[in-house]
Amino acid sequence: MSWRSPTSRSPRERIKLDRADSRRHHRSMLLQELFAAGPASRADLARSSGLTRVTVSDLVAELLTEGLVEELGTPSESRVGKPPTLVGLVADAKHVVAIDLSVDDQVAGAVLTLEGQVVLRDAKPRQGRTGADAVALVSGFAADLIARSSRPLLGVAVATPGVVTPDGVVLDAPNLGWHDLHLADDLAAALDLPVYVANDANTAVMGEFVFGSRGEGGLLLLRLSTGLGAGLVINGALLHGQGGAAGEIGHVQVDPGGPLCGCGRPGCLETYLAVPRLRRELAAGDADAVLADAGARLGQALAPVVATLNLGEVVLSGPADLVEPLARVAEQAVRDRVMPVSAQQFVVRTSSLGDDGVLAGATGVVLAGELGVS
Ligand SMILES: [Zn+2]
Repeated sequence: MSWRSPTSRSPRERIKLDRADSRRHHRSMLLQELFAAGPASRADLARSSGLTRVTVSDLVAELLTEGLVEELGTPSESRVGKPPTLVGLVADAKHVVAIDLSVDDQVAGAVLTLEGQVVLRDAKPRQGRTGADAVALVSGFAADLIARSSRPLLGVAVATPGVVTPDGVVLDAPNLGWHDLHLADDLAAALDLPVYVANDANTAVMGEFVFGSRGEGGLLLLRLSTGLGAGLVINGALLHGQGGAAGEIGHVQVDPGGPLCGCGRPGCLETYLAVPRLRRELAAGDADAVLADAGARLGQALAPVVATLNLGEVVLSGPADLVEPLARVAEQAVRDRVMPVSAQQFVVRTSSLGDDGVLAGATGVVLAGELGVS
């Protein structure tokens, strides 16, 4: 009988792996610095990272060979002595394919640069397809975007409604008929690229955090789409929760006598704020009254969360004509319900990335997974 498990490694193998790990980690530190602070000289990078000049030069050489960074010449204000050469990230070196399944009955997607700029976009009607048919549709759509990209691809990210594990298993997405679906693995096998799958609201909050405002005081993003979900970044980290379902505020019951929700219970917050329902109500009645009612219910549900976490901001992501008025009403409703100290500097605002927040965030998910940049 052996005491070694099949996965255990010899000390020599372990040292080799540790070295590979620390090299990868150091590489991520430099990319992170260039990503967050812009171009820098090798000496600047050594200072900010705490790595030696030799290590920095070696890693920069590797990144130059891969085309992820480029030399940008010397800064104009450089003084006497040998002027330092700046290196900067090449946003267009590689592309990312991002797919958004949160828009009602659609598969939307784009090819984006490493800075989250859309290079090309497309969408296909889903026509009610669910289960394996929906997977085939997503896979074919992704393959088409990959074929149309003019750069090597860093990876693919899919943002889907529902509860998703960190390794890309969709535990439950009722609108798509997906349960315990290993979507990331299935798509990676079909597309031969790294594939990440994440909840759409979590993806959108990552987009806001990486490419929009950094939300230093804690950032809660509510995504209004087919359903209503939230993503939460605290101290720079995405909150998953014990069952991977952090942010499922949409299925908090706000009125036991309210309309029946897709989850089977009446009066969930989602039944008042899902986009298809809001559109129907707006078409049928007084727009101001509909938005005032929905915004007030939203603020009522948010107030305990805002007070408990002392959040600095709540961001609404969704169609601009809906989220702009809702943000105003919800902010006031929260202010009316919390202590002045909680309301101080608290804001509800719309996403700075507009409705592209999910796509930009999906790019952020691939950057974090492949390059260690966030
Ligand atoms: Zn519900």
